Amino acid sequence: MKSKELALLEKYYGYKSFRKGQEDIISTIVNGSDVLAIMPTGGGKSICYQIPALIFEGLTIVISPLISLMKDQVDALKDMGIQGELINSSISAIEENKVINNIKEGKCKILYIAPERLESSSFLNVISNCNISQIAIDEAHCISQWGHDFRTSYTKVSGFIRLLKKRPIITAFTATASEEVREDIVRLLNLNNPKIFITGFDRENLFINVIKSGDKKSYLHNYISNNKEASGVIYAATRKEVNNICEELCTKGYSATKYHAGLSENDRKKNQEDFIYDRVNLMVATNAFGMGIDKPNIRFVIHYNMPKNIEGYYQEIGRAGRDGEKSECILLFSPQDVQIQKYLIEQSIENIERKNNQYNKLNQMTDFVYSNECYRKYILDCFGEIYDHNCDNCSNCLNEGELVDKTIDAQKVLSCIYRMKHKFGTTMLIDVLRGSKNKKVIQFSFDELSTYGIMKDYSSLELKNFINTLVSHRYISLVTGTYPVLGLNEKSMKVLKSEEKVTFKEFKVEKKAREDNELFTILKEIRKEISIENGVPPYVIFGDATLKEMTIKYPLNKEQMLNISGVGEVKYKKYGEVFENAIRTFVDENNIEVSTHTKETEDAKIESIHLDVTTNKELFNKLNDIRCEFAKKEHTIPKMIISQNSLKEISGRYPTNLDQLKDITGMGPKKISSYGEKIISSVNEYILSNSQEVNWTEKKKKKVIIDGESREIHEIALDMLKEGKEMTLISDETEVSISTILGYVTDYIKEFGEVQFNLNLDEFYNEEEETLIVNSCEKLGYDKVSAIKKELPSYIKYEAIRAVILKKYFLRDN
Ligand code: ADP
Repeated sequence: MKSKELALLEKYYGYKSFRKGQEDIISTIVNGSDVLAIMPTGGGKSICYQIPALIFEGLTIVISPLISLMKDQVDALKDMGIQGELINSSISAIEENKVINNIKEGKCKILYIAPERLESSSFLNVISNCNISQIAIDEAHCISQWGHDFRTSYTKVSGFIRLLKKRPIITAFTATASEEVREDIVRLLNLNNPKIFITGFDRENLFINVIKSGDKKSYLHNYISNNKEASGVIYAATRKEVNNICEELCTKGYSATKYHAGLSENDRKKNQEDFIYDRVNLMVATNAFGMGIDKPNIRFVIHYNMPKNIEGYYQEIGRAGRDGEKSECILLFSPQDVQIQKYLIEQSIENIERKNNQYNKLNQMTDFVYSNECYRKYILDCFGEIYDHNCDNCSNCLNEGELVDKTIDAQKVLSCIYRMKHKFGTTMLIDVLRGSKNKKVIQFSFDELSTYGIMKDYSSLELKNFINTLVSHRYISLVTGTYPVLGLNEKSMKVLKSEEKVTFKEFKVEKKAREDNELFTILKEIRKEISIENGVPPYVIFGDATLKEMTIKYPLNKEQMLNISGVGEVKYKKYGEVFENAIRTFVDENNIEVSTHTKETEDAKIESIHLDVTTNKELFNKLNDIRCEFAKKEHTIPKMIISQNSLKEISGRYPTNLDQLKDITGMGPKKISSYGEKIISSVNEYILSNSQEVNWTEKKKKKVIIDGESREIHEIALDMLKEGKEMTLISDETEVSISTILGYVTDYIKEFGEVQFNLNLDEFYNEEEETLIVNSCEKLGYDKVSAIKKELPSYIKYEAIRAVILKKYFLRDN
């Protein structure tokens, strides 16, 4: 029999099996033990405390460091039908009260807070009276001074726990494995005989690539132009470098944004959201970016500079491929990176002990870059994990690139350094090797050296890269002082004496991080539309891996959809049909044969049977009044509360309890919990006072047809247009936005080549807006509606964009 844990995993998350370690961690927590779980970034920590939260009675509080990301986490929970809430400084007092009421009424299972909240006495008053079953501390390394993200506010956590009347189960999660951090967490959180889980740090789907030669900039541009559609993060060491890279990418027409501590909070928030919501593909950032970022479809992480330690590096690359899909991590190394990091340590840390600790870590990182063994093995070894084979998924194992013998050129460089008496830096060396008439060269009489001008065939940049590569491979030493000076070492002498050959790999950027297929692009577009409508990031709807599985298995009914990893019951109800329809159209148009097993054929048969519903107008009007009242209270429009069609279905099917209400199309757990009671009591009241006869029938897989209306909503809207009805009236009656209706018209024209009705589009935009929209269309392509919206001033609405596109590109002859 399936365990309770697994059943919940399937039901809510739609995943079919646990990842490594998850099941053990969950059952330990469920059995009442404190836990410290160390799992790599992307390993799936959230599920480890969320599933126990669902099993326990009472509330789970999650302490998480980044308030900007809590909303996405809570949105994701709600979207799965889990009662999640958040309290932090981003919400209003009214919203906070609402959350507190939900908590008091037992309508919240998981509450996210930032550690600072633990200092608020009003919060403590409310919370200390609640039944708290678990406190989960996410990113628990923030409590340790030795962690790379130390936060003073984390030190308040254990005091808070002590204040509680009953001690809940305490669970701590981090990706940082070092012994000292681990000990700090147990001690500072006062964990009670915790079970410590180290699930294994390997992230098999990440390809680790370290590049020590060539020009970083051209590598980056080549790589990105080969992976235009993919989401990626580019980390650089300084704000200035981030600004430069981002500007260059944008100038070249790539869709990039940036993040660093020098930007205003608003800009950081906006840029981060643009990236998370797939509005831009590339995020250029310092290491300030990324903690808690849940975006699962990051296909590559490029380090433009070497990071300061292995933990930070592994955490940053861990942000790639959280969805388990193959992803690439590329470190572009140059010897100056070491200098930059040393400078940053000097600038930022005063405490001598911490400073030395950071230097040791920097050395470990530098050794990693120079290492010739399997990179994965090296990293796992740092985390105390034994990895006794080669991974065949890193650039050392795969020996990528073409080996080129560079011994003679290396000898030219080395002998020039020798003749210049080891006293100069790269710029002067380049000048001499290229035969520059620079004043200083003449002043030192370097124009008389035999090596003067012997590398004229190299450009300055090429030569700089070559010298850097020699330093990277330790054929030259970089001696630091006021200015870094190039010097020779044992290895250089061997080359000069022809005892050792110098061979480098020349890298070609050829591969794409991922191959997209046409259906994947279609499904991604649908996901984006839904994400814009619902105001949640695309990955909250479905992850890339889920969409990809759909493009391989072509699920066409509920059972097949639920078999796709990432499709749970609630999500199926919400989005299943839209995706099924798109897949069906694709399969039909491309004559793809989809295997139909007997079970599926049966399903198809059942699906073809209708459940006919006749609306009860009187009851419908009553329900509509209730819906308007709720809308007024929530300051929104009625259709956002419950759709008209759901109300019609309720009025004709008469659900008399919450379970039956679940069977009404469009009634998800959130709507049921907010409005269910009120609706059910009105239905019951109506039945009683009118002696209405009621025979409840379950929908099963039948299609609901209300009042004989079997047309889909887009067909209804288009028919109304054909009848000459006004667009705003159609929008009101169908409860579909004008922009969506204009989208239907566009699709219709794409399919049939023309429309047989008049469209008055001019009312949706003015002249100035039209010019701006047309300019954006010319630049970005008129099919990129979301990108166009993003580029334009925010007052220009979607409906204006769609109207201009229709007029200019689809109805030109009309
Ligand atoms: P982290 O350990 O970094 O906090 P998350 O909890 O954010 O990782 O999980 C990373 C991704 O992996 C998320 O998209 C999550 O939905 C997915 N995931 C977690 N557990 C599973 C599972 N058992 N099967 C498939 N995907 C999973």
